[in-house]
Amino acid sequence: MTIEHSQRWKPLLLSMLLLFGVAPLQSREPAQPFDVVITNGHIIDGTGSPWYSGDIGIRDGKIAFIGNLSEASRHRTIDARGMVVAPGFIDMLGQSEVTILVDPRLPSKIYQGITTEITGEGESIAPLNDAILHADQEQFEHYRIHPDWRTFREYFSLLEKQRMGINLASYVGATRVRRMVLGDNDVQPTPAQLEQMKELVRQAMRDGAVGVSTSLEYAPAPYAKTEELIALAAEASKFGGIYATHMRNEGTGILAAIDEAVRIGREAHIPVEIWHFKVGGKPSWGHMPQAIAKVNAARAEGLDVSADTYAYTAWFNDFSAFIPAWAHDGGNTKLIERLKDPATRERIRKDMLTPSDQWDNEWQEIPGPEAVLVGVVHNPQLLQLQGKTLAEIAKLWNKDPMDALFDLLIEDHALTSVAVFGMSEPDVSLALQLSSACPSRTFPWRSSSRGSLSITIPPALRLTASSDRNIPIRARMGRFLESSASTFARSTSSFSKTPSANSPHCPLNACAWWTVAS
Ligand SMILES: [Zn+2]
Repeated sequence: MTIEHSQRWKPLLLSMLLLFGVAPLQSREPAQPFDVVITNGHIIDGTGSPWYSGDIGIRDGKIAFIGNLSEASRHRTIDARGMVVAPGFIDMLGQSEVTILVDPRLPSKIYQGITTEITGEGESIAPLNDAILHADQEQFEHYRIHPDWRTFREYFSLLEKQRMGINLASYVGATRVRRMVLGDNDVQPTPAQLEQMKELVRQAMRDGAVGVSTSLEYAPAPYAKTEELIALAAEASKFGGIYATHMRNEGTGILAAIDEAVRIGREAHIPVEIWHFKVGGKPSWGHMPQAIAKVNAARAEGLDVSADTYAYTAWFNDFSAFIPAWAHDGGNTKLIERLKDPATRERIRKDMLTPSDQWDNEWQEIPGPEAVLVGVVHNPQLLQLQGKTLAEIAKLWNKDPMDALFDLLIEDHALTSVAVFGMSEPDVSLALQLSSACPSRTFPWRSSSRGSLSITIPPALRLTASSDRNIPIRARMGRFLESSASTFARSTSSFSKTPSANSPHCPLNACAWWTVAS
């Protein structure tokens, strides 16, 4: 889809609806006036079928009628001539749980047509306790937020009170549950502690969480063994939740990581959603077909495993993810101490220089320091580094690139976020082509880690080099999909119908498990 194309086909997006069929379509035109009638548009209904003409009548926030409404009374008419009328898109992993408190309208989501976001990647916004509040103080201060919730129920009430521009749902994060009970340490729960963690999952599910999630690359999550995750996922399953995961390894260890996700699904009796499905890192380039085959094998076994992806060859995450998990034991303050200690710093360096599929060793995945772009810093003294590559910073500081990485983490208290250009275009393209070839299931919108939080233009937030990634992903999707000869109708299905479909009802076929993420 070219730029001109995308302007011509500018979707007219309805924030009040997820899908056609939210309300049963009526066979005859009702007598009472519609709140809104959308007329003259090309309707792409998200089922994957080609566009058709018609009017859409909306009443009480729901589609009440599709057909000829030329004579119908209404309070308001929207003329959609020359535009597409499509269901609102679903972002299967956004990260707007904090920024929604800064600007409830979530402009960077709604302008892309995203009307529903699911958030909570391992680290969910709730539950919350004083220890976490203290440990994460700098991050809340960054957004000028003073958290006064402790549970999902309290957080959701806050959102309802302030109102919001899109629908928002959340997983309860296994990382968060772990931190509530065990802190940031590399320890294993006692049976009693595990019971406490399970109770926190149950509580969250009762409060409206949609499942349990993991983000197993980021400390303290890697300290959790698979059995702990099965125990937590099994609790979510009892409430009809799903298990969503940023897997333990997205590089050379990806096949074992998929095995782990599948095992959790099997043993916890829970549907699995693999987020931002990718083969990350140069040594893995070209391995997307094997990863796909692995998921298809699980599906052929009857397990409900689905995935989403995004249209970038870069991921966006914490710069500190370059550091091996053991060095994060105890949290960021401990990590900084280790980076400052010459002997420990050398041990960290050695680990990063050693190829391994036991942890997601990003240093081994990048083509070089020029592939790491600093997106967000927290220390105002470092603002001039935003938008620079690690190679440029190393040159600026006259340091070895790895030392520049360590010292930047020290200066920024390990809170820096980076874009890492570590994927190959053919792999990304293959994932997107699969998704668009499958009208039976959809792509929500997401990018890595913090890449997809909603941004807002002025007040409390510092705009950063990373922000561009939050807005134009749809244009990039268009480019990828055009090259795969896919149709806009099909991709619309993959943004709307598929994520909303309950996966047990999806047919077991090669591509039914794909959805799109931003
Ligand atoms: Zn992630």
